[in-house]
Amino acid sequence: MEFTGILNDYMVGFYRSRYVTKDNITRWIASTQFSPTDARRAFPCFDEPSFKAMFTISIARPPNMSSLSNMPLKDSVIESHNITWDNYHKTPLMSTYLVAFIVHDFAPYQHSTNNSFTVWTRQNLIDQGVYAGEVGPRMLSFFEHYFNIKYSLPKIDVIALPDFGFNAMENWGLITFRESGLLLDRYSSTISNNRAIALTLGHELAHFWFGNLVTPRGWDDLWLKEGFATYLEYLATNKIHPDWNIYDEFFFDQTSTAMKIDRLISSRPIHFKVENSNDIRQVFDAISYSKGASLVNQMANILGENTFREGLRKFLNAHSFSNADHDDLWNALTEQAHTDGALDKAVSMKNVMDGWIHQAGFPVVTVTPDYHSNILRFSQKRFILNGKTQTKSSDKWWIPISYTTDTETNFEDGKPKFWLKDEGEVNISLNLTQWYLVNLKQNYYIVNYDEKNWKVLSEIIMQLPPVIRAQLVSDSMSLARAGILDYSIPLNMLRIIGTRDKEIIFVPLEVIFTETDFLYNILYNTPAFGVYEKYFWHIFYFALDKVDFSENPDDPYIIKRIRRLVLPQACRQPNMNCALTARQIFRSWMEHDHR
Ligand SMILES: [Zn+2]
Repeated sequence: MEFTGILNDYMVGFYRSRYVTKDNITRWIASTQFSPTDARRAFPCFDEPSFKAMFTISIARPPNMSSLSNMPLKDSVIESHNITWDNYHKTPLMSTYLVAFIVHDFAPYQHSTNNSFTVWTRQNLIDQGVYAGEVGPRMLSFFEHYFNIKYSLPKIDVIALPDFGFNAMENWGLITFRESGLLLDRYSSTISNNRAIALTLGHELAHFWFGNLVTPRGWDDLWLKEGFATYLEYLATNKIHPDWNIYDEFFFDQTSTAMKIDRLISSRPIHFKVENSNDIRQVFDAISYSKGASLVNQMANILGENTFREGLRKFLNAHSFSNADHDDLWNALTEQAHTDGALDKAVSMKNVMDGWIHQAGFPVVTVTPDYHSNILRFSQKRFILNGKTQTKSSDKWWIPISYTTDTETNFEDGKPKFWLKDEGEVNISLNLTQWYLVNLKQNYYIVNYDEKNWKVLSEIIMQLPPVIRAQLVSDSMSLARAGILDYSIPLNMLRIIGTRDKEIIFVPLEVIFTETDFLYNILYNTPAFGVYEKYFWHIFYFALDKVDFSENPDDPYIIKRIRRLVLPQACRQPNMNCALTARQIFRSWMEHDHR
């Protein structure tokens, strides 16, 4: 079949882009971005994930440039003085959106221990590709062990493109990145850049199993690859940087981020019927990525780490080089859970999970105690930020309830003690003395307690693990914004954390500053702003005053993160030391270090 595509300037399909070298010479490169529906711009095809095919690619290029594709080069044939043909090995069965080819004049970097993993950058930036070249192969071998399935292709190329519309794209064997998403400059990159590079690299490599080897049958199950890759990027990053404690940041990065969108009445179910290319582009959002990752985390909590991983292996082995949907996942996980006794034989993952993917939003679990008869009463309702909004009373979820109390304190047992299902309230007998705490592993719901329990939890909050502190701040602020809880509860909780947290723990502080930014913004230019500012400066005086600019490149990860978090807040006051020092440092940088 004859077909002519156009090398376009739109950053989709097969497109050209340019960059300017240090010597002011303009250079051109050509690359591809086919996901989700632009392979059809480059070649005729059934351009949907379920039509898998093998691709044998040949590319004509000028002799002074190179090319790359999914598979290794088979041979090169000189056709004329200005055209050379590069012929590539045939790919395994794969979806069209994962095909890629690039013509470039970049430089390669390979770590000495691995010659099948190559990072490509512009000639003068190759030093900045070293980090990715070192951690990439280690992440790959982490996933090979985790899934117990070897990576399917003979090589990996990772390339940093000057013009790229996404952060990165998991083309099989040829991952494309925007430069800022891959390159680490030891002079100007921050700890946030470093962290983002590690997470994104982990994300794209995870796709080689979740997405490329086993592909969602349709775009309506996009979360099945994006939710998983987003969850798995934390596992890979933790393997490389165990000292970062990156798991602790999952709640803020993903769960609370997803909830901020999912608590609006306009939110959508994660499994979403898509009719055309525009619909498909719309589902690449925080619901697919962050809610998806939060639900994956919830499944791991329900089943336990080992059963969950074995179930995933089963799922991947059953559908390799093919497609699957969420029912296939439920089946594999249920089978494993029944074998291991992790789930009652009468219960399937379909029972448990269908409600979470077919309904928009998430529930608030209301717990009402009867302190005389030692009973806790649990009920559920969809949580909507505008508390007055009527919701369908049929919106119900299978909610895995874990809890602990002051008499038998155990924050680690996140497995469900019971299910709060669609049949109404559940009463639990419990020895109620001082406090109780629900949802120990930050599953995808929020909890509202009685006022007495909120107050006791606030009082003892510094004895709770940092992630649970963050969760309580986030839940109580959401409830207050919805008009369900009095603002005095979260504001008092913040006061206790702010004045007692002498170590300045990162995770709760990150949630607190995000939540108080909301108050700052709505109170700004109102008469109440002065009172709020006084409250804020008084409570967080310790953190705002103690963190300073004395950065040392060898500082631990978490110290650098705290500095990045606290300084912008501290510098808001023009007369604080922070603002004065910042001006000094900037002036000196302009005069001396400017590169
Ligand atoms: Zn992805």
